[in-house]
Amino acid sequence: MSTEYKVLIGGEWCEAASGARASVINPATGQVIASVPKCDIADVDRAVSAAVKAAPGWAAKTVGERSKILLKLAQVIMAHHEELAKLETMEHGSPIRKTMNFDVPLCAEQFEYFAGVARAMTGETLPVGPWCSSVTVREPLGVIGLITPWNFPALMVVWKLGAAMVTGNTCVVKPPSVAPLTTLELGKLAMEAGAPPGVVNVITGPGESVGEALVQHRDVAKIGFTGDTVTGKRIMNLASNSVKPVGLELGGKNAFVVMPDADVDAAVEGAIWSAFFNSGQVCAAASRFYVHESLYQQFADKMVAMAKTLRYGDPMKMETVIGPVAYAAHRDKIEWYIDGAKKAGAKLLLGGERPNTEETKNGFFVAPTIFGNCNNSMEFMQEEIFGPVAGIVPFKTQEEAVALTNDSRYGLSASVWTKDLRNGMVMASQIKAGTVWLNEHLIVFCETPWGGCKQSGWGKDLSTMVLEEYTMTKHIYIDLTGQPVKPWYGLLK
Ligand code: NDP
Repeated sequence: MSTEYKVLIGGEWCEAASGARASVINPATGQVIASVPKCDIADVDRAVSAAVKAAPGWAAKTVGERSKILLKLAQVIMAHHEELAKLETMEHGSPIRKTMNFDVPLCAEQFEYFAGVARAMTGETLPVGPWCSSVTVREPLGVIGLITPWNFPALMVVWKLGAAMVTGNTCVVKPPSVAPLTTLELGKLAMEAGAPPGVVNVITGPGESVGEALVQHRDVAKIGFTGDTVTGKRIMNLASNSVKPVGLELGGKNAFVVMPDADVDAAVEGAIWSAFFNSGQVCAAASRFYVHESLYQQFADKMVAMAKTLRYGDPMKMETVIGPVAYAAHRDKIEWYIDGAKKAGAKLLLGGERPNTEETKNGFFVAPTIFGNCNNSMEFMQEEIFGPVAGIVPFKTQEEAVALTNDSRYGLSASVWTKDLRNGMVMASQIKAGTVWLNEHLIVFCETPWGGCKQSGWGKDLSTMVLEEYTMTKHIYIDLTGQPVKPWYGLLK
């Protein structure tokens, strides 16, 4: 049965002005499960107006008042834990085991983090002279447009929404068209937690129309974007017309380096996690595995053996660890890269074909796929596939491993597996990426900054650094004398 959702504008649940609707498909079954309004520019105007109207009242609240609403929101999310988890599993295909134990609890935790950390935000007093005082204060930017991807439909919204809300901004969120339902639900829960009407608005519709209108809207002060690098470039271009700041969390092609002294079993376990979690639909997923030649065969054999044990199938079953990928065209794109890798001469070690079991035959499944004998000139070792596909490359020297890692237009993350932490730190300093993990991959905390360099984008989500992304620093100068004693006044006399 298909459920009809509405969008959230100024605290009201509305249809698109045009009345148009779009379907949402469960990628595990290929069935339509819901429809959402297909908004256009008129709806963007309505949502931005609502956010503009709500902005002064929200900014005038103390940070403590806003913080309490976020804490309440964290509680409300956990009160709807199972319902949210099932919704995300249905719209996205993430196994229920993951949405129950990872996505939903993390959404609540992130709101708790932002609620706390914003209360420790400070300004500065600057020592410019005895006859004056200079202070800096941090102010909200106004209306923030948040454009989010489908790979973690709820979490990617929360990363930005929590920070933007607690710092006093109002938001218009444009969720991904393939998985918009959990974001609409989060909008509802924000209202339930006490967010005043217009503080959180959620409008659904195509990126090319709704997203671009949001980016270009003159009343939107900033865009927080997570998504593909190509889209990020387009957004940067469009935002330049209004000199609008944009936060860009873009794609990655992340390296995983196994040094000769690594603990191979730990590295293999990390490799499975980082390549196949969420079916590899993770910006920081490891997809380029550089393994010292002395360990190459052992590592490849163990990785293949462990990957064979991953249970894929119906994501609603607790025992399933790998669900489908998010939509049919995405599955086709991943398969196109797999074909390309075969043609380029990579040696297929596992997977590479479409699973066809009773549970998978109607959904958009890709089996965990591992290639050996790869090299960086193969297209699939350079492009972000965003699926469960790993390529392994042997290397001889440390210099070669670092060069291979840096041989990418992306710079989101990388990991080095070694027992020699001193040398690991040297390698971390040589690797051009926003995050380098030593003996770990794909672990992110609220307290640690997240964001890449090169074509992986700029700006940071999470940590105290995100507070700077959603506030403006204002300098206020105060004359303390009331007398015309300023040294430069004489220049006009
Ligand atoms: P897309 O860039 O295709 O879409 C992201 C969002 O942008 C969607 O809401 C989409 O809307 C919207 N959009 C599309 N075109 C435009 C446009 N012209 N103007 C404005 N908005 C637009 O990315 P995906 O959803 O496919 O997400 C996957 C990507 O996200 C991967 O590259 C991944 O690496 C990256 N990512 C990066 C992260 C990071 O922290 N660096 C974290 C998570 C993901 P619609 O759905 O309607 O097309």
